[in-house]
Amino acid sequence: RAKDEGRDSFQLYQPAMNARSLEHLALESALHRALEREELVLHYQPLIDIARARIVASEALLRWQHPDLGLVAPGDFISLAEETGLIVDIGEWVLRNACLQHRRWREAGHGELRMLVNISARQFRDDNLPRLVAQVMAETSMPTGQLTLELTESMLMEDSSRSIDVLEELRGQGVRLALDDFGTGYSSLAYLKRFPIDELKIDRLFIRDIDRNPDDAAIADAIIKLAHSLGLRVVAEGVETAEQLEILTRHGCNFAQGFYYSRPVPAAQFPLPD
Ligand code: C2E
Ligand code: MG
Ligand code: MG
Ligand code: MG
Repeated sequence: RAKDEGRDSFQLYQPAMNARSLEHLALESALHRALEREELVLHYQPLIDIARARIVASEALLRWQHPDLGLVAPGDFISLAEETGLIVDIGEWVLRNACLQHRRWREAGHGELRMLVNISARQFRDDNLPRLVAQVMAETSMPTGQLTLELTESMLMEDSSRSIDVLEELRGQGVRLALDDFGTGYSSLAYLKRFPIDELKIDRLFIRDIDRNPDDAAIADAIIKLAHSLGLRVVAEGVETAEQLEILTRHGCNFAQGFYYSRPVPAAQFPLPD
């Protein structure tokens, strides 16, 4: 996806490269071994409650510490993991390790922090997901309301009546739900109220030029108003400047996440609140 092509991200799929190339196969088997060789790592990015100017949550973001390639961004291997089905095991690893990290932070006196975990389309399609989530929450004594799963519109739209059932089951287990990358999918806004979700994350595509482009500012304002009228809280993704934050504050956005505050960092460098 073009929007994930960060400045410093390693580009695996060159346009001319055949998907079945040797590189692809080599990477696939390397990814297979990544789990057992403990090459996967989670970085954490803070979410700030704008009104309280306080860090209130962290999003777990996956990286692959490849022995030769260095730190590989998820945009360069998540789709391969999806295609091969490896995402199911990887996703379980992510969920468990994020919850374990949350437990460490709780034990260090930061029980108020929430943890956000990204769920892939394939994981969401897996009927075992609610059971897995319940099991990991029990294993790690995750308190009710402290774990948020991030899903995308396109995942929910795939089989919307099943999606509603799964979301309700997860919510019944004390999980909060967020709609990630909002605005990049093509679902109708009317669907939004059918899904039992708690939070909406405005994609950084709409935040990027918010201080220069009045249309983007109007879109963000409309999304925030719509979300609030549906009882949802709003997160702005990709906040990089004080100007963007100022506009979002004026529009009543609840939370902000972005390089302005912190890049995703290893747990040891996470800026824990005082
Ligand atoms: P996402 O869930 O929308 O995560 C936000 C992405 O935006 C992250 O990229 C983050 O580093 C980046 N970001 C945050 N603030 C800023 C900013 O101010 N400016 C800019 N330019 N970028 C910012 P990352 O870590 O490369 O992750 C990309 C995507 O990969 C994620 O998008 C998510 O869809 C997926 N992903 C990451 N970790 C996981 C995971 O554990 N499981 C699954 N299924 N997907 C994951
Ligand atoms: Mg996310
Ligand atoms: Mg996002
Ligand atoms: Mg995004």
